[in-house]
Amino acid sequence: MKTINDLSFTNKRALVRVDFNVPLDESGRITNDARMAAAIPTLKKILADGGSAVILSHLGRPKDGFDPKLSTALLVAHLQDLLGVPVHHVDEVIGDKALDASKNLPFGEVLLVENVRFHPEETAGDVDFARKLAELGDVYVNDAFGTAHRAHASTAVVAQFFPEARCFGLLMADEITNVNLVLESTNHPVTAVVGGAKVSSKISILENLIPRVDHLVIGGGMAYTFLKAQGGQVGNSLVEEGFLELARKLVHTCKERGVILHLPVDSVNADSFSAEASARMTPAQEIPEGWMGLDIGTKTAENYAHVLLNSAVILWNGPMGVFEFAAFAEGTKKVGEAIAQATEKGAFSLVGGGDSVSAVHQFGLVDKVSYISTGGGAMLEYLEGKTLPGIKALLEDAII
Ligand code: AMP
Repeated sequence: MKTINDLSFTNKRALVRVDFNVPLDESGRITNDARMAAAIPTLKKILADGGSAVILSHLGRPKDGFDPKLSTALLVAHLQDLLGVPVHHVDEVIGDKALDASKNLPFGEVLLVENVRFHPEETAGDVDFARKLAELGDVYVNDAFGTAHRAHASTAVVAQFFPEARCFGLLMADEITNVNLVLESTNHPVTAVVGGAKVSSKISILENLIPRVDHLVIGGGMAYTFLKAQGGQVGNSLVEEGFLELARKLVHTCKERGVILHLPVDSVNADSFSAEASARMTPAQEIPEGWMGLDIGTKTAENYAHVLLNSAVILWNGPMGVFEFAAFAEGTKKVGEAIAQATEKGAFSLVGGGDSVSAVHQFGLVDKVSYISTGGGAMLEYLEGKTLPGIKALLEDAII
């Protein structure tokens, strides 16, 4: 994996694809700059070498060409603050103006071009559009992990025009290195905690994880399909009837491979799906009719904490319950805290792919786990074992 640390950018124009898809309020102000901040180390390294950076990003989902509410011009002032160097903007992505601006860009400075998704050719992965993008730089750097699962012009297709001069940015390299520390760990025991709403959306993840882990800990809505598949009474809990057989098969595969599968033994149930619902704890296999399991119970949380505290490597994807409702957040909080404690004891922990990342923020555990992935959908696909187009394009032989 060639990263920007393997190259010198002295007197080079780097064409850097980042994910600056930040949330904006009504007046166009940035409400959370985490995605911009994540790409700063890469940009600083290029500038410190004496190079310049031409930045490509998407912002939102423009439907029909130019939209002033989604212009990258809204990001210029903040980017300048973060970098402390002049940041220029051009209201084009491709074209003479953008090309001239990139050629006249002084080394040590930055050019942010317009939102790449103002062109439908971007998401279509159009080769001619990618060829024009390639004219804006001498070296291609991809640091947009959040969009690495898309085969778009600026995230994947463009790489072929830099057969000798393309590499991973530091954020991309970090994400890949950290998730591989889990998926290819030689340290054991490895524990995967998988939760979230539905089994159907996590099948590929479970199938990919089973050969790699020692313990598989299941929580969230998806647990109830497993419990029902084993003959439990789960009342009105979320159950995917069409996946009962698959749940049985996964239980069997775990047994065959010697993976210890952990399911809830008790459940916190609600009489309606609401934050104000009455809550009642029962054994997980004995949920009365009219009640639905919205969180793992106290004994389950203790069991899971015990497994986690004895793990060397931990992956957490998906909450243990409806943690958005205070009465059903305890299980997710306890599991998050156990992961933090295990990390303090020396375990490596990675939180990635969606709502468990929000949970870690909600419970103040951000600095207490080893790594938090920035790429929701991209991390999910990586955990499923898919080859992400943005990564593949940097690795494979050029095919111009
Ligand atoms: P996912 O995106 O699949 O990881 O699912 C996350 C969502 O699952 C969160 O919004 C949770 O509220 C929801 N969830 C977790 N546990 C349950 C449950 N027992 N019943 C219904 N939804 C749940």
